[in-house]
Formats: sequence, structure tokens, C-alpha cells
Amino acid sequence: MNCTNCGRKIESESVWVRFPCPKCGKTEIIRCDSCRTLENPYKCEQCRFTGP
Ligand SMILES: [Zn+2]
Ligand SMILES: [Zn+2]
Repeated sequence: MNCTNCGRKIESESVWVRFPCPKCGKTEIIRCDSCRTLENPYKCEQCRFTGP
């Protein structure tokens, strides 16, 4: 699995979050700790929803 934002392998990260897309719920958003801290915007591949 990779971070949705930066593509970093989250297996090597100790802190990361995974949650379904808030809009369509079909895609799982995976964010590593650094992307979460930096509040990088993520994008859902299904519905093109973007959000922090
Ligand atoms: Zn990341
Ligand atoms: Zn979506």
C-alpha cells in the first residue's frame, strides 16, 4: 500500500491513516504522517473529490 498523496510505502511508516472517501466511500484514502501534518490535499480517483 502507498500513501495516496506522495506514493510513499506506508508499511515503512509508523503513523498513517486510512479512511474511505468522504464523498463516494468507494475509495480508500491512505495518508502518511508527513502528508497529514503538511495537510497535503488528496484526490479520490473515483469521484475526483479533493480535500484536506
Ligand atoms: Zn504521504
Ligand atoms: Zn470519492
